Amino acid sequence: MQMPNDKQPPKRSMPEVDRKARLKIPRQPLPKQDPQARRSNWNEVYLPIRLELAKAEAERCIQCPAAPCVTACPVGNDIPGALWKLENGDVLGAAEVFYETSNLPEMCGRFCPQESLCEGSCVVGKRAAPVAIGRLEAFVADEYRTSGGYDVETPPVVTGQRVAVVGAGPAGLAVAEELAKKGHQITIFDSWPEPGGVLLYGIPNFKMQKEILDAKLEYLWELGITFQGNTYVGRDVTIDQLFERGYQAVFLGFGASQGNQLDAPGADLPGVIIATEYLVRGNLKPEQLPESMREPLPDAKRVLVIGGGDTSMDCVRTAVRLGAGEVTCVYRRTEAEQTGRVEERIHAVEEGVRFEYLASPLRFEAGADGSIERVQFSRTELGEPDESGRRRPVPTGEEFSVEADTVVIAIGYGIDQDLPEAAEVDVEDWRVAIDSETGETNRPGVFAGGDCVNGADLVVTAMADGRKAAVAIDSYLKDQATKAA
Ligand SMILES: Cc1cc2nc3c(=O)[nH]c(=O)nc-3n(C[C@H](O)[C@H](O)[C@H](O)COP(=O)(O)OP(=O)(O)OC[C@H]3O[C@@H](n4cnc5c(N)ncnc54)[C@H](O)[C@@H]3O)c2cc1C
Repeated sequence: MQMPNDKQPPKRSMPEVDRKARLKIPRQPLPKQDPQARRSNWNEVYLPIRLELAKAEAERCIQCPAAPCVTACPVGNDIPGALWKLENGDVLGAAEVFYETSNLPEMCGRFCPQESLCEGSCVVGKRAAPVAIGRLEAFVADEYRTSGGYDVETPPVVTGQRVAVVGAGPAGLAVAEELAKKGHQITIFDSWPEPGGVLLYGIPNFKMQKEILDAKLEYLWELGITFQGNTYVGRDVTIDQLFERGYQAVFLGFGASQGNQLDAPGADLPGVIIATEYLVRGNLKPEQLPESMREPLPDAKRVLVIGGGDTSMDCVRTAVRLGAGEVTCVYRRTEAEQTGRVEERIHAVEEGVRFEYLASPLRFEAGADGSIERVQFSRTELGEPDESGRRRPVPTGEEFSVEADTVVIAIGYGIDQDLPEAAEVDVEDWRVAIDSETGETNRPGVFAGGDCVNGADLVVTAMADGRKAAVAIDSYLKDQATKAA
């Protein structure tokens, strides 16, 4: 994960509040679906909250002048400012505070790792449970969306300048929105049939109902942004051709979507599937997928997921909802080294997922029908730290096997190297190299941001990159216009 930004909290006078009294307000209960019930539905875990509860939770914010939550937020949301409006009943005003610095508060409130960002630095959290910033952000943004906040009343004044955005994930959507609001004409190209990037083709419905993404996209189309799906830039159309077609700048936000493969015998057996394919075939309608992925997943009774991050949690919990009786997650280190959100693991355990730690796959074995039947594992123990700073798993020599009729490989993502090569942009350590201030690549007029620059990271950091690049692209376009005049 990227380091939080170095922005200072906005200068504003903090309201006078009785901090001691506020510290005594208990954290409000945030209602969740019962784990047994949610095993068989695709609805979000958290149930909607009432305004009175949201106001009471917002009142737990002690309005501390240092506001470390703001500096911990990669987009510098003025969290105390928003919560002050919320506790005073100005829900839409609170949402507008988030929208000043963020394009996707309804999503960040749902799936940012708040425990290591805003809530992790909340001063209240040093004495009690931190303020539930994420849930409150999602609450006010939901109210904003459902009460017409996305209606475009005055269309932006058109500049006549055109920008091509490659990738319709959080980075691409943010850059497109910011530039469209300035009147530029934006086309987003994506290799998937529909826009959203991982927000659609990855994150399952039980983390975010897809109506939320649909509403955001509707708003972007109203701003005049156009989308061209099923288009792999670098092959179906090149960057040179985009410039020839009259686009004056290009933003590369093509993510890190290449699922890492396991190099073990039998890893290509039928029934062994890579995480993204499993998630999209399990979560989306066939018509949202390319033809090669439209076949429904076979019914599986025993699903084994290899890997321990957020994607693995999405896979195990998808397997539960698809009806697998036995779902096991195998991770080569211990729970202490697991990346991803603790909350997601708790949800998985509550939903009946079994965890097997300290085990690394040795080989995949087929049954009589030629499909996967079991995976043979080597037990591991932790050795010296590796380059990630986490202790390296070392095989002990002990072996065991786990039976499964579907095995999902969720061991991280890499960046497609074909597009940067075709685009003739510099790459450093497999990532697109940019000027960190502007997001511009070595190629004039070509900017980049999100996972293709940071490596597999977060929705909020991708969006932050998109916002930053939009500022630089706008000023690049102004320079171009001045030169042409
Ligand atoms: C399963 C899963 C769960 C996750 N859960 C969370 C979470 O809970 N919280 C969180 O903060 N983050 C999560 N992440 C990470 C987060 O989704 C990413 O960091 C974020 O989506 C990156 O945004 P992006 O815009 O850079 O790329 P992406 O969202 O990956 O979008 C890139 C888009 O570019 C398109 N593309 C790629 N190559 C081309 C090409 N050559 N031509 C045209 N289009 C192309 C892709 O099809 C894709 O639509 C998760 C990731 C995964 C995979």
